[in-house]
Amino acid sequence: MQYSLPQDICAKSYGGFMLIISPSSGNWIVLDSQQQVDILKSIIDGLTLEEVRERFDVQEVAKVCAQIEGRNFVRAVPEPEEAFTLRLYMTNKCNLRCTHCFMYASEALNDELTTDEILRLLEECRSCGCVKVILTGGEVLMRKDFGDVVRAADSLGMYVQVLTNGTLWTEQSVRELSPYIDEVQVSIDGYDEASNAEIRGRNTFALAMNALDMFTRKQNIFTSAVITPTYEGLEAHRKDYTDFMKGLAAKYRDRNFLVIMQNELIDGRNLKADPERNRLMTQTVKAIHEEVYENSELTAFIMNHRDGRIFWNCGYGNLTVSSTGDVYFCGRVHDVKRYANIRETPLGEIMTLRSRVRRFSGVDYVMPCRECEVRYVCGGGCRVKNFPDAVCAENGDFGARVFTRKNECTPQDKENIYRLMIEANSFLMR
Ligand code: SF4
Ligand code: SF4
Repeated sequence: MQYSLPQDICAKSYGGFMLIISPSSGNWIVLDSQQQVDILKSIIDGLTLEEVRERFDVQEVAKVCAQIEGRNFVRAVPEPEEAFTLRLYMTNKCNLRCTHCFMYASEALNDELTTDEILRLLEECRSCGCVKVILTGGEVLMRKDFGDVVRAADSLGMYVQVLTNGTLWTEQSVRELSPYIDEVQVSIDGYDEASNAEIRGRNTFALAMNALDMFTRKQNIFTSAVITPTYEGLEAHRKDYTDFMKGLAAKYRDRNFLVIMQNELIDGRNLKADPERNRLMTQTVKAIHEEVYENSELTAFIMNHRDGRIFWNCGYGNLTVSSTGDVYFCGRVHDVKRYANIRETPLGEIMTLRSRVRRFSGVDYVMPCRECEVRYVCGGGCRVKNFPDAVCAENGDFGARVFTRKNECTPQDKENIYRLMIEANSFLMR
């Protein structure tokens, strides 16, 4: 018997292990002795398994075979996926005025999409391969037709995710709409009424907590609480935030629930993001997540890679539509270029552009990622942060120029990926 292994294998020594990567398939195996490496080389050189067994320790050969088969190391390179997510900002209207709101939500804008326009958009997107819709605002419940939109998306077979400030839900609206919703994200930015009030306004904490309680009782819905503290609040009250998050995780441990803290801030209503403070915040939040959920970084990595998924890009290239129909390819609409409006451009044309934008901002086309051996494992990170030229490029630039990463991808960044690949390996065996 002979394995047909990838031809582009490269090896990285890390932490006493040998990480064997196939860059072209985004797959890897982990070996733990020089003999195993020699066995793999012999297999690549064309020796049959019988010949390899005659030359090497049979148990070591078995370990290498277990890796090759358990990790499906012979698999072909999957095609880039066509399925996409639609993020729809349903309205700019919001009952709150959160200090950091990156949508600057307040009143409804003139000329927001009508119910018919939204329903048509959902149908057209579905027929173009949209599998998931994220409904957000403003506050989604400020739209009277929110229930109609949720039901329509569900009836089209889409995965429906709702982002909400949680303050307007009642037992009745949760009961009526929860059958059509797959996921709810409730924003809670403080660890108690006073800290939450500083960011989201007074008397919102208990309401949002109540919404969490109502949604977590619905087992068909994956509920998350997403916390966006201020830099100062996190620095001064790290323990309070950590205890709050641990309390939520414990309270809802038997439910379909996760509590997450944003790991950096972006510009918003009264907020100017600071790169250095974001760097520190990322470290702090990573440590908090590890305290709240043991091995949270590794668990997230395993979840992302358990299906052998290839990461061609970040979420950039999914479709975002504003409340007035403007089209973007990322939800951070103030940081990326507006490419069209659904009232002016047929969706088919938008889809063609979307494919080009996603492809040519993907890891196969940007530098240095296209030369990186873990490009399909990493995906290149946030395009807004790392490739600002790409997210603001003219239509004609896609395919005509190579975008280069603005900030350095450091050896430590890569080593963190190697570490996760090695630690995740045994969990990813079939
Ligand atoms: S560019 Fe950044 S914010 Fe936008 S989808 Fe990618 S990771 Fe998300
Ligand atoms: S960001 Fe760094 S690790 Fe990720 S694909 Fe690009 S070069 Fe590789």
